[in-house]
Amino acid sequence: MTGGDNRSVRARARARHRALSRAYGHLDGLELLRVMIEDEFPGRIALVSSFGAEAAVLLDLVAQVNPATPVVFLDTGKLFPETLAYRRRLTAHLGLTNLHTIQPDVQELAGRDSDGSLWRRNPNSCCYLRKVLPLERALAGFEAWISGRKRFHGANRSGIETIEAVDGRIKVDPLAQWSREDVEMAFVTRNLPRHPLVDEGYLSIGCQPCTTRIGSEADLRAGRWEGSEKTECGIHKAGWSGA
Ligand code: SF4
Repeated sequence: MTGGDNRSVRARARARHRALSRAYGHLDGLELLRVMIEDEFPGRIALVSSFGAEAAVLLDLVAQVNPATPVVFLDTGKLFPETLAYRRRLTAHLGLTNLHTIQPDVQELAGRDSDGSLWRRNPNSCCYLRKVLPLERALAGFEAWISGRKRFHGANRSGIETIEAVDGRIKVDPLAQWSREDVEMAFVTRNLPRHPLVDEGYLSIGCQPCTTRIGSEADLRAGRWEGSEKTECGIHKAGWSGA
């Protein structure tokens, strides 16, 4: 795609974002998902899920709208075995029928992370290789995607909107305004299975080398890339190149 094509795709997404915000900016949760999946982007929207500590809530809402909605799962090759088991259990529990498990490109891995230690030397490059590039490829056929970020996660998530235009695509965060208590309530009222590592003190769960127990709910994302200034893997940063 040329630079001019890119600019026009981004301009179209921004115009669409303005129209969607005017029409649906007052909605969230199930109501917002329903209009996005059924009316605005039928067959052209995907949920991207980590199958982490809070993921069941959004997956459950999407399944209530349509269990055949595409769900993209990034298997970085560095995940906890418990996450892979939880993905199988939750997918079956919710009756999801369209799971896309996406992995990093084998040749790119061989060229840039042949011994699997890039996360230690350069975590931004590792996230770019194992998450950002695979997600870009996975979303190529979609006009919009859904993520589970919430404002109470803090840092650069504290001001997110429920509908945004990012890198030429519409991004929907139906739970942006939900509180920690709202999430907990959904687990209880919907009787949702918990990620097995939550009981062990992991409250935000990503790749095994970059996730630590925090054992308190003071800052949910404090257990990610502990000891570094990194707070996001890159899939939520517009135009991020992993530099
Ligand atoms: S979270 Fe860690 S292991 Fe996973 S892709 Fe990023 S740097 Fe690599």
